[in-house]
Amino acid sequence: MRHYNSSVSAVRIVLLGPPGAGKGSLALLCEQRLGLAHLSTGEIFRQEIARRSVLGRRVQRYVAAGRLVPDALVVQVMASRLGAMKVRRGFVLDGFPRTQGQAAGLDQVLDRKRKPIDGAVYVTSPEALLVRRLCGRRVCSRCGANYHLRTMRPKHAGVCDHCGGSLMTRKDDQPATIRKRLALDHRTAKPLLTYYKNTGRLSTVDGRGHIETVFQRTLTLFRHRGWIDGRHDRTQVHARN
Ligand SMILES: [Zn+2]
Repeated sequence: MRHYNSSVSAVRIVLLGPPGAGKGSLALLCEQRLGLAHLSTGEIFRQEIARRSVLGRRVQRYVAAGRLVPDALVVQVMASRLGAMKVRRGFVLDGFPRTQGQAAGLDQVLDRKRKPIDGAVYVTSPEALLVRRLCGRRVCSRCGANYHLRTMRPKHAGVCDHCGGSLMTRKDDQPATIRKRLALDHRTAKPLLTYYKNTGRLSTVDGRGHIETVFQRTLTLFRHRGWIDGRHDRTQVHARN
């Protein structure tokens, strides 16, 4: 049933979850079907650096030195982008905030504009599934094209569709390395989850199964929370035409 709520103006959501949980694909579906703007930190950093903006040059200095970009600067870059964007229906953030400090910084900026983050959605998955998803990644040894044994198979096993090069597994995508990465991610994510939980804004979505199934679960949650209404549904219809 459609649920119209005139008080819903724009919804601001943070997607959280370990690598391999499918946050990127989920954010993309939120953009395509619900008209929510999708902001990914990695992409925004690359754009700012390419534009050689003042903030971009500051970020570049850390990246070039192989150092972590400080929380305050990450928040500044993201906030300036959010401020400049025409966000009519709202946005989903993916890959940001990554630490509790960033989450608190983001809240400070948005509180000033009285446009708080409505909720953080944690996409959960058992470790075994994450490992399976992450170790299915393959990359072309010649042109660098990405593949996945389950979701983006090459036409011929082990061979790149674009250049005929042989496909390989990155060292980062081998099970032992993946388990280490997941453990590290778990430790950094904990205070972040606690932060949103303590402010009453944490929800979870079961990330098992096909991405479409996960999206439908997410949609149910969004409706239940009153985060989307009839206008978002209409966007969905347009997007499908
Ligand atoms: Zn190739």
